[in-house]
Amino acid sequence: MKLDKQDITLFWHRRDLRADDNAGLYQALKDSDEVVPLFIFDSNILSQLEDKEDQRVVFIHDYLSDLKKKYEAAGGSMLVKHGPPKEVWKALCKEYTIKAVYTNTDYEPYARERDEWVADFLKGQDIAFYSLKDQVIFEKDEVVKDDGDPYLVFTPYMKKWKSRFKEQDAEAYDSEGLLKDKLCQVDPLPMLSLKDIGFERGETYFPAQDPELETIRKYEDRRDIPAVKGTSRMSVHLRFGTVSIRALTRLGRKQSEKWLNELIWRNFYMVVLWHFPHVATKALRPEYDHIPWRNNEKEFKAWCEGKTGYPIVDAGMRELNTTGFMHNRVRMIVASFLVKHLLIDWRWGEAYFARKLIDFELASNNGGWQWAAGSGCDAAPYFRIFNPELQVGKYDPDHKYIKKWVPEFGTADYPKPIVPHKAARERALETYKEA
Ligand code: FAD
Repeated sequence: MKLDKQDITLFWHRRDLRADDNAGLYQALKDSDEVVPLFIFDSNILSQLEDKEDQRVVFIHDYLSDLKKKYEAAGGSMLVKHGPPKEVWKALCKEYTIKAVYTNTDYEPYARERDEWVADFLKGQDIAFYSLKDQVIFEKDEVVKDDGDPYLVFTPYMKKWKSRFKEQDAEAYDSEGLLKDKLCQVDPLPMLSLKDIGFERGETYFPAQDPELETIRKYEDRRDIPAVKGTSRMSVHLRFGTVSIRALTRLGRKQSEKWLNELIWRNFYMVVLWHFPHVATKALRPEYDHIPWRNNEKEFKAWCEGKTGYPIVDAGMRELNTTGFMHNRVRMIVASFLVKHLLIDWRWGEAYFARKLIDFELASNNGGWQWAAGSGCDAAPYFRIFNPELQVGKYDPDHKYIKKWVPEFGTADYPKPIVPHKAARERALETYKEA
């Protein structure tokens, strides 16, 4: 047993797995000479993941291992723990004399509840808890209507966002530059292995960490074509904070307004979730909770497996099942198909995406699904029903994307459409109108 407890200041990493340009880490390093970074593999979250080769856990583990090495190379340490956060915090307070705890704010309902508990618990021990803005350019009430209400429509939000934006909102924090002087060492512990936390490495499809300049420059022309690499593939890096939103915002402002707008969509949905946490389980607009969904399990299974007989839908679902990614245009098409053609509750699709998407993020996923269902912010009007065939004609006319993921397309092995488009469309219109 240690007699003297070591004095430390903790920086708690969550979805910000980088040492450079990290707002909370920067503040901790500025304020203290004895900073120890911490990460907790949250067993409450991990225990819900069915796939023991879940790519997201491997992604976190990979980037965390690099971070740990980086901190050690700079003369410091990193604590990597596994367990329910409450238990981990109780144990940490017993083991160390903690001067203060810094972190970056997370806006999801589970994280808010967890952080409130941690803040309260630390307060009871006389330890200050600082939560900084890092994940977004504008948080909470920073961009609201003139009367103080949150925006529910994207375009005016985006305009206000841009009018409020100043260069310093996207300035980098030089946290990396402070590491050498401000980190301190604790008893060196080996990195937890994937096995220690109940997972293993399977096939992974991680996109590069740096956005390709050419892709951003040509974004406006190519972003809707799923057969080309026309989008940045930054979503998983934004999800886990392996890139900084400020760096990407600066890039967007320089290279592509259209791409910048996508980053603002992300900001918009995060703020919507913060203002209206009920969207996590219910329609943003309550009248949409009255739709009598058909919820046919056989049809849902065919959708999940990419066997609906609609080639663009099937290609998208198979891309998702194989890689954990799906192109945005195709996400819109498969979501619309599930909700409108099959009249299956958007929450079923949302949950399936949450299980499979490597970039899964509650705010954007929920926003995307409620958009498709017509029940959310700035949603597609209920009578807008994607025609999968027309979408193919516009965005995959040579069937390049389809053939990549559905090799039996065009042969006798390919299934017949699970519902006829025209009849399904009319059924959806009627059901929505009545509801
Ligand atoms: P780019 O086109 O290069 O865009 C750059 C970044 O802007 C993205 O990485 C993302 O952070 C943000 N962005 C782009 N489009 C959107 C959007 N429509 N809404 C919010 N942010 C956006 N995105 C997620 O990050 N996680 C999800 O779980 C998720 N679920 C979705 C579910 C549905 C039904 C739909 C229609 C969209 C969903 N999206 C989600 C949004 C979008 O499809 C992905 O962000 C995008 O495809 C990621 O690819 P990219 O990084 O190449 O994007």
